[in-house]
Amino acid sequence: MTTNKEILMEIRDLSVEYTTRLGQVSAVDKISFDIYKGEILGLVGESGCGKSTMGKALMRMIQPPGKITGGQIIFDGEDIMTYDDDQMRDFRGRRVSMIFQDPMTSLNPVQRVDEHVIEAIQVHEPETKTETALKRAEKLIQKLGIRKNRMNSYPHQLSGGMRQRVMVGLGLVLNADLIVADEATTSLDVIVEAKLADQLRQIREDFDVSLLVITHNIALVAELSDRVAVMYAGHVVEIADVEPIFDNPLHPYTKGLLDSIPNIKLDEKEVLYKMPGEPPNLTHPPSGCRFHPRCPFAMPICSKYEPDFKEVTPGRQVKCWLYIDHPEKEQATIEVQA
Ligand code: SF4
Repeated sequence: MTTNKEILMEIRDLSVEYTTRLGQVSAVDKISFDIYKGEILGLVGESGCGKSTMGKALMRMIQPPGKITGGQIIFDGEDIMTYDDDQMRDFRGRRVSMIFQDPMTSLNPVQRVDEHVIEAIQVHEPETKTETALKRAEKLIQKLGIRKNRMNSYPHQLSGGMRQRVMVGLGLVLNADLIVADEATTSLDVIVEAKLADQLRQIREDFDVSLLVITHNIALVAELSDRVAVMYAGHVVEIADVEPIFDNPLHPYTKGLLDSIPNIKLDEKEVLYKMPGEPPNLTHPPSGCRFHPRCPFAMPICSKYEPDFKEVTPGRQVKCWLYIDHPEKEQATIEVQA
């Protein structure tokens, strides 16, 4: 792990709700965690757990009927929740940029690669001449493994992997400190996905940038990340360095998620683990721990009170009553060795 543990972004009690016909959906519920300078943090969980909402909330990109209903996002000592529209425009792109599953939705189909990059520079730095911006763009694009002659290509003339690298380039050309990649490799085939993962690691080294990789692909997270945050039903339920999470998952949901990964070595008589039940309806989330209806370790206290997100060993936090003392708890608290 290359992170120096200097905090880049502090997320504190962040909540996002959507207004629907059926009521308020609590998609992100008082989540707190940090993103360190220069780290790759993987954010994983099933579809609908709130991970993409979380990524968009970090850039204040939640659109109605969604709304950030509380919390702070502290970046370089400033709470960006207090920023006005102009400050946010500067923040997005210059400090934090986002890449999505389908880069075609973000790239202009009638603009060439060079025009995209030059525009990104000049929107934030209007004083930069086109010639200077073009030189910067060429240098960067080549560093990202795209040949110079591709600068004249339109998005549809590039492969999916190249389009994603152009998107990364649009963030890096302004020296963004954080790139949020939301299912950025999902539409790619496995070989291109593995290559892009390698390139993202290299980009982190070359540009000293932090990456928040949002994905349902646990194997990708194991391969790519320094730390992993596991989300369930609008909560982060476990966060730790990648090795302890995969070697010894503590939260029952993390265990279930890892046990559900197909194993090529599985004996043909062995049955792949399937987590019982379905993720809850977040208009009426379960009381207490939101995972209790599906949890094989559930205790009476679990449906009564919501557990805190507790540090169980240095740098490792878990949201589960198994690791917290409470007078009403009958089962012994599990002590975790650092
Ligand atoms: Fe399971 Fe209880 Fe822990 Fe929730 S708090 S994950 S129900 S043991």
